[in-house]
Amino acid sequence: MKELPSRSLKSSEKKRKAVFVSAVAGALLLAAGSIAAGTVIVPSDFEVPVLLANGEVITQPWRVTADGKQVALVDSQEDAREVVKEVEGHYKSKETVKIEIEEQTFAEEMDLKNGDEKPEILTVEEAAEQITAEEELTVKTTEVVTAAEPVTFEKITEKTDQLYEGETKVKQEGQDGLKEVTKKVIKENGHTTEETVMEEIVLQEPKAEVTLAGTKEIPQEAELVSASIKAEGDGQLLTPVSGYRMTSGFGPRWGRDHLGVDLALPMGSKISAADSGTVIFSGAEGGYGNLVKIDHGNGIVTYYAHCSALRVDQGQTVTKGQTIADVGSTGNSTGPHLHFEVRVNGKNVDPMSYL
Ligand SMILES: [Zn+2]
Repeated sequence: MKELPSRSLKSSEKKRKAVFVSAVAGALLLAAGSIAAGTVIVPSDFEVPVLLANGEVITQPWRVTADGKQVALVDSQEDAREVVKEVEGHYKSKETVKIEIEEQTFAEEMDLKNGDEKPEILTVEEAAEQITAEEELTVKTTEVVTAAEPVTFEKITEKTDQLYEGETKVKQEGQDGLKEVTKKVIKENGHTTEETVMEEIVLQEPKAEVTLAGTKEIPQEAELVSASIKAEGDGQLLTPVSGYRMTSGFGPRWGRDHLGVDLALPMGSKISAADSGTVIFSGAEGGYGNLVKIDHGNGIVTYYAHCSALRVDQGQTVTKGQTIADVGSTGNSTGPHLHFEVRVNGKNVDPMSYL
């Protein structure tokens, strides 16, 4: 058997126990400090054959270490590098990701002596599998990722008096934009531990959502109530005409009751509402001719008959003293005059006692 040159002769007994020489492949798996203290770094092409106990002659196997511990033995430095790539691939999440790894490969002095037992040397696949199965191992990767991300659209509110308060209407639909974001992502065993945005390029600006918000005041119920109060009279009636001559009083007349008073005036004289109220009739009605009826609330209703012209409409509210019609002689009448009636709870009363 041929005597092989062996550098192992200078190795201590302690070092003999530490397994075989190998390559430490890289920063991926470990810090450079993982190389056992006291080992000698030699060029990777420094290969010395070893005669093993079983008679086999081999060149130095390469050691892959992680966190200072040997995790696999492989045939060559090339294989050790290949293992690093395999492991890296295992934790790589996306095809497009660029993984930045500072590769450092070291060769350690072989500590295998002639006559030693044959160590277990793994294939690249076996080594990679064994390493990734190691749960306590932390594999840190730094990736530079470029990906498209949406730019969330803004929401803008514009005021408008075209809508009531509380009402809203979408004027313009919002649309997300698009940006290209480049990030540095640090992962440990495939899980992101740190993310830093390096660059953002807007590819498409977002379109804001514009909502119209009403400012028009909503009519309050209180205002409606006060409006109806305004339409109600104060009960103190005004004489609807001035400069009149009473031609007929209230009460019995020619064998029947006269339901109001007749006030003679020139044709076209203005007739005013005796009190505030709501016009409940404005039109022609039999012997009354053109007639206006006003409800003043509190059961009081006034009639203005024989008008030549009507100045108000049914349903309209009028204020005390407002012109409602012109004196005329329509209906059952012999000359221009105002026939004026006052009814309290449906019963005719003498208007003169109210004026
Ligand atoms: Zn009359």
